[in-house]
Amino acid sequence: MTGITRQNNQPLDAAVLPRFAGLPTFMRLPAAASPQGLDVALVGVPYDGGTTNRAGARHGPREIRNQSSLLRRVHHALGISPYDLVQVADLGDCPTNPIDLIDSLKRIEGFFAEIKNAGVTPITAGGDHLITLPIMRALAADGPIGLIQFDSHSDTNDRYFGDNPYTHGTPFRRAVEEGLLDPKRAVQIGIRGSIYDPADFDFAKANGFRIIFIEEYARRQPEDVMDEVRAIVGGGPVYISFDVDSIDPSMAPGTGTPEIGGITTLEAQRMVRGLRGLSIVGADVVEVAPPFDVAGMTALVGATLMFELLCIVADGIAARRQ
Ligand code: MN
Ligand code: MN
Repeated sequence: MTGITRQNNQPLDAAVLPRFAGLPTFMRLPAAASPQGLDVALVGVPYDGGTTNRAGARHGPREIRNQSSLLRRVHHALGISPYDLVQVADLGDCPTNPIDLIDSLKRIEGFFAEIKNAGVTPITAGGDHLITLPIMRALAADGPIGLIQFDSHSDTNDRYFGDNPYTHGTPFRRAVEEGLLDPKRAVQIGIRGSIYDPADFDFAKANGFRIIFIEEYARRQPEDVMDEVRAIVGGGPVYISFDVDSIDPSMAPGTGTPEIGGITTLEAQRMVRGLRGLSIVGADVVEVAPPFDVAGMTALVGATLMFELLCIVADGIAARRQ
């Protein structure tokens, strides 16, 4: 939509208004009321009604916005500023209904359908991991998409609390059943932690998900892992979903379902950079739960990973434009 130009939206100039000042938006960008005219939309989905244990991710978007004021405009390793490559803004928070799960799923799907129909790539701050299901319902309207999921948990369980199909432990099973997700182009990285039943991974394995458990991950380098991931997802459309509980809780304690023995923040950054060149249709960072956080450190992880994802997404849009 837009070329390389400093006339694109830029973060507020820190030399004019210091970074600790002003109204907090994602990356200190302008707020937009509509996706029209954007290439990338940064979005909050303040919903945690899919949480089965410790709630709090509904407060994620606001704290991630706050911590995102620490980020500057140029990526030090990639050498690019995403704001020079694409038009991006803070599209605000998706409307949700904290007392009605099904209504929330509908609202989220509708909000992201508008973004998709405007030709805009969303990068989202959750919210618990259930929000990825309605996002995928919107983004996979033209056919199934691939998935790269960073997580401690497979999130492919079936039912909870009797016969309830919708929790943050079920989104990717539902996405396969609904034809949104091509499980042959799905990779889960960092999986670990105690499980309810030895059969908990059977659905994912039987359907072709590539599960890279933390034990295998720890024997390899992040770049080597991403080489395999890129080969699996190929050139087709792919969604990136980053559950912050994939990070070790010593670095990201502010989450509802922490699991020790996780990946480091630097490894996470190296892996996201390894996604460069893929056809990314959207991305999210979920499960940041500020009530459990310490000094905003997990929200900072979330904000920084959103910036890393923004750089990769912007680079891809700019490359396809040429
Ligand atoms: Mn998850
Ligand atoms: Mn998880």
